[in-house]
Amino acid sequence: MEHVDITIIGAGVIGLAIAAELARPDLSIFILEKNPAHGGGISSRNSEVIHAGLYYPGGSLKAELCVAGNRMLYDIAARNGIPHQKTGKLIVAMNSSEIEAIEKLHENGCRNGVKNLSLLNKRQIEKMEPPIQARAALYSSDTGMIDTHALMHYFLKQALSKKVNLVCRTQVLHIEKDINGWRIYTLNDKEGNFDYSSQAVINAAGLSSDTIANLAGGHYQLHYCKGDYCSISGIRRGMVQRLIYPAPVENHAGLGVHLTIDLNGRLKLGPDATYIERREDYQVAAGKASLFYEHARKFLPFLKPENIHPDMAGIRPKLQGPNEAFHDFVMREDAPGFVNLVGIESPGLTASPAIARYVKERFL
Ligand SMILES: Cc1cc2nc3c(=O)[nH]c(=O)nc-3n(C[C@H](O)[C@H](O)[C@H](O)COP(=O)(O)OP(=O)(O)OC[C@H]3O[C@@H](n4cnc5c(N)ncnc54)[C@H](O)[C@@H]3O)c2cc1C
Repeated sequence: MEHVDITIIGAGVIGLAIAAELARPDLSIFILEKNPAHGGGISSRNSEVIHAGLYYPGGSLKAELCVAGNRMLYDIAARNGIPHQKTGKLIVAMNSSEIEAIEKLHENGCRNGVKNLSLLNKRQIEKMEPPIQARAALYSSDTGMIDTHALMHYFLKQALSKKVNLVCRTQVLHIEKDINGWRIYTLNDKEGNFDYSSQAVINAAGLSSDTIANLAGGHYQLHYCKGDYCSISGIRRGMVQRLIYPAPVENHAGLGVHLTIDLNGRLKLGPDATYIERREDYQVAAGKASLFYEHARKFLPFLKPENIHPDMAGIRPKLQGPNEAFHDFVMREDAPGFVNLVGIESPGLTASPAIARYVKERFL
């Protein structure tokens, strides 16, 4: 391979969704992935929630692409047998300042075009979820769960059926502008170094998307923000039916430790949000179980400390540093034919089909 039309760097949910969207038998498209298989990065370490689009400021890409992606994902999942469930979600308020916070969230969600939102009082909450204690709640019935691996498999199958090539165990080391577009220098686990040229490059390298962008003249810096999870045992299946979130805190790096229910009915708490040094550390400290208990027992009064166990972790690629205000996704053609997707944190999974459509319509 000496020259290709498009190179996508990174085979996570974003790179795969873009490959599926762009694939055409007359285009040569290569996806380069440093790991032995697709989907081993951020995309396999998240909450798998199909978000509705409540939290993001009006006019932001996060708001626009989350709301669009929510509808697209349910449609893709239903048509293609991808396991998913529209569980619904309650954001609960325990005092008057939290009630104010969920009312603001309600207004923001409505402005963003989120449908099927309602504010509930204590009696309505008890009727919907008897074990939950709260003074008020915002209910979003369009929030749900999806099997991320099945979704990525679907995007990959779509792409491969139209002659896209996925090349794993191949790390992009260096990139230079050349007469045919971009010269890409790589290291393959088995074959060693090779380089080739590509007319266009799409950088969907997740936690390394800033490094890749900077190889082509960008000036980005990602902050790694870890999210730990704890599993829950000893609680009767079906006792809680919906995802339960606390009221949001302004400029917080995450959505607050919350309760999710995976597609097998298992309950999970998390993720929290801790800025860490730049390395992929997925250990969860034993002490997280008692910390999560303290956070969650206010709105999940049935939990006991012995129900909660340290589990998995994920790392957010954040453009927003500690205590900084909201930062949007970056999706930009920073140099001719070089498209960067940087800071694709939550709601990146939900937004993935809408991000892919955006990239196709704007840049290619
Ligand atoms: C804790 C947590 C919870 C989340 N929860 C949700 C949620 O509930 N709902 C939601 O919508 N979103 C959620 N997200 C966000 C969502 O998971 C991400 O936005 C999405 O998975 C990002 O996908 P990606 O393809 O950009 O990154 P990745 O999946 O990380 O893919 C990037 C790929 O690039 C490869 N790569 C990197 N550098 C190179 C290189 N030099 N050469 C070749 N390959 C390279 C990596 O190996 C990786 O496979 C969450 C994220 C986190 C961290």
